Amino acid sequence: MSRPDARRSRGRNNPQKANLARILAWEVLVAVDEDDAYANLLLPRKIARTRLRADDAALATELTYGTLRARGLYDAIIAEAASRKVDTLEIPVLNAMRMGAHQLLAMRIPDHAAVGETVAVIKQSLPRASGIVNAVLRRIGERSYDDWLALMTAGLPEDQAKSLRYSHPAWIVSALREALEAHGRSSAEIDLLLQSHNDPAPVVLTALPGLDRSELPGTPTELSPLGVILDRGDPGNLEAVRTGRARVQDEGSQLTALTLLEAEAPEGEWLDMCAGPGGKTAILAATAAERGVPVTALDASGHRADLVVDSTRAFADTVEVFKGDGREFAEAYPGEFTRVLVDVPCSGLGALRRRPEARWRRSSEDVRTLRPLQDGLLRAAWQACAPGGVIAYSTCSPHKHETLDVVRAFAADTPAVQILNTPDHLARVTGQPAESFASSAVGDGAAAQLWSHVHETDGMFICLIRCPA
Ligand code: SAM
Repeated sequence: MSRPDARRSRGRNNPQKANLARILAWEVLVAVDEDDAYANLLLPRKIARTRLRADDAALATELTYGTLRARGLYDAIIAEAASRKVDTLEIPVLNAMRMGAHQLLAMRIPDHAAVGETVAVIKQSLPRASGIVNAVLRRIGERSYDDWLALMTAGLPEDQAKSLRYSHPAWIVSALREALEAHGRSSAEIDLLLQSHNDPAPVVLTALPGLDRSELPGTPTELSPLGVILDRGDPGNLEAVRTGRARVQDEGSQLTALTLLEAEAPEGEWLDMCAGPGGKTAILAATAAERGVPVTALDASGHRADLVVDSTRAFADTVEVFKGDGREFAEAYPGEFTRVLVDVPCSGLGALRRRPEARWRRSSEDVRTLRPLQDGLLRAAWQACAPGGVIAYSTCSPHKHETLDVVRAFAADTPAVQILNTPDHLARVTGQPAESFASSAVGDGAAAQLWSHVHETDGMFICLIRCPA
């Protein structure tokens, strides 16, 4: 794992503020473990509530995300330095050690500040643990990042060594290696792919159709014609975001919705079957508003359906949002929709760079248990699709079992199905060569796969499917 940019603590000038950054980061790390919190939701709330200055907010962000991402390696180092298994340590203590290790090994913060200020954090709530945190961090500080890495990976089989080097669970290393091969790429890309999950992802905005992206601050994205990379500032302060004409959304998600819109389809209503929180629905809705087409958006979770209502608030006349199961909905409304997006629940292995804790939460068992739902939702999309209509099956994962296996199994027992050449459609959306997006053949057509190490987007899988006329 490459080291993040050195970010020096301002603590020497303002120790209380600097330690507030550490306290917030540590609280988030503990909440991720104890309450299954999402760091990318909790941390911004804490930063806003405490009105942290921009440089301290950046420190808190690096401490939180950097520590979460590299936690696999840090746990191995802590176990060695403490001469005990990490699961014998209390969660608050372990997270103080992880955060200290990150400062010592990856942030080039002076050792005395990294140790002293981290010990100060734990001292406030667990004074009895300050001795062990101090002792373990001092031991960690005796070696450099490279020396620790060499020590911890010496003699390990290749994938286990990569698991530590890039701080991913071993099952994800194997699954991603298999995914690269399944989608027609070289498994030698595995190092670049794993590394890309450890590099901070840019904040990308979508200028929803109807808003010119030149009206948003930042740099236009290369692939999506709707995207802008926000170089600085809080997107929530932008008028276009406040009014629902622009949204924070990864470029890969933008491309998924745009690819469905690019395919030919008869005039008629559109359906987003797994819509929450509504990023892709917003693009469909903004386009539908321009074309005078109604959109139905569905999500099985009431809370997520509410988020869709919010994401499409600028196009409320165009969209109807329901809480419901896509499989039951399709039975009630067969053959009604000319464009159907089925962006199924998945392992999220393509979005690991945006969700630093996700890699430690998922298991290979999740991939197995989600499969029947993915199969069922694709079949429901087929049922809901009007004659001559088009379906986009998508996941934010390249895992073979939830991408190619699903669409191939569907194509194999659905005689009338036509799989489109999805990379060709992506090529028309992006102006880039289709080969760049190529995955593997599915029936007579082909699926497309985006990669964070190639396209600098989340790893979306997209397969366009045509219903018989
Ligand atoms: N398309 C969304 C976006 O771009 O913002 C992301 C969709 S997310 C990958 C999958 C969604 O499917 C979740 O919000 C989940 O609640 C929903 N879901 C799960 N099971 C479902 C079902 N049986 N019917 C409809 N939605 C379902």
